[in-house]
Amino acid sequence: MSPKTYHGIDHHVGNTPLIRLNRLSEITGCEILGKAEFMNPGGSVKDRAAYGIITQAEKQGLLKPGTTIIEGTAGNTGIGLTVIGAARGYKTVIIIPETQAPEKITLLRTLGAEVYPVPAKPYSDPGNYNHVARRLAEENGWFWANQFDNTANRDAHYHNTGPEIWRQTKGEVTAFVASIGTGGTLAGTSQYLKEQNAKVAAVCADPYGAAMWSWFTNGNTDIDDGDSFAEGIGQMRVTKNVEGLSVDKAYRIDDQTALSIVYQLLHEEGLFLGLSSGINIGGAVRFAQEHGPGATIVTILCDSGHKYQSKLFNKVWLKANDLDPDFPIDKAVG
Ligand code: PMP
Repeated sequence: MSPKTYHGIDHHVGNTPLIRLNRLSEITGCEILGKAEFMNPGGSVKDRAAYGIITQAEKQGLLKPGTTIIEGTAGNTGIGLTVIGAARGYKTVIIIPETQAPEKITLLRTLGAEVYPVPAKPYSDPGNYNHVARRLAEENGWFWANQFDNTANRDAHYHNTGPEIWRQTKGEVTAFVASIGTGGTLAGTSQYLKEQNAKVAAVCADPYGAAMWSWFTNGNTDIDDGDSFAEGIGQMRVTKNVEGLSVDKAYRIDDQTALSIVYQLLHEEGLFLGLSSGINIGGAVRFAQEHGPGATIVTILCDSGHKYQSKLFNKVWLKANDLDPDFPIDKAVG
């Protein structure tokens, strides 16, 4: 057998299963399906962006063995870059807001990244984690992955996530729902699906405290009231990956609804997910309720709950933040 038949871990990003969310499908009369992105090598949907960014940079001659990749990240892109980088011979330096779950920082260091937590600052502040990463790249001659404005991110979803969903649903997908961190997942996947069938609805599920709902609904980023504990999402500006994207629906999903979904899936269906997955699924349920029975709705199970044990799965933390893990699912989505 040719040695080319088998490949290392960096070639096994994507091709994730599409999982039926049973209880919510029964409640809504729609097929609510989640793409199991937590099964990627680095454990999240962001492995796709990391793979796409690294592969494009290699083609452009920007990466040579031993090159350092630097990124500002809420964690998952950093994990993806570090895992795929290890397999391809690159080092990683990660700039992360110190508000992110401590599990991610520990994990990144275990995986071999050099990690610098920085105070959480808005994008307009020069101390924002993205600007710190860009400056360090310029000063040291490192490669800045720039996931927010590097459209190799969106392209990875256009070339992989979209076609996978089209194949897996045999073209029966009615809507694709995703929240926005960089916007790569929603923009790339929905563009591909709409090219196959213009009737496929692109749906944004936004947490409170972010401006994407306002952007798609009102055409401005003025409304960003409220707050959310969901990590990796919650965008305040129109990134290059979001530019040109128009969606058919946008919903705001609150943390309690997302948490009730996360706990229902954990206790009844054996799915251990983080809060952005709950926001996504909350958006899928809202679309199902507006559409009525019979739709096939696909969303993203972004990452697993492992990284959030100290927060989302810690009763003391939940109580201190007014979140109730026992709030019943039918009331939460009712
Ligand atoms: N969920 C989690 C946990 C994430 O880390 C991210 C990316 N930061 C997203 C959702 C959003 O994905 P995207 O960047 O493609 O919008």
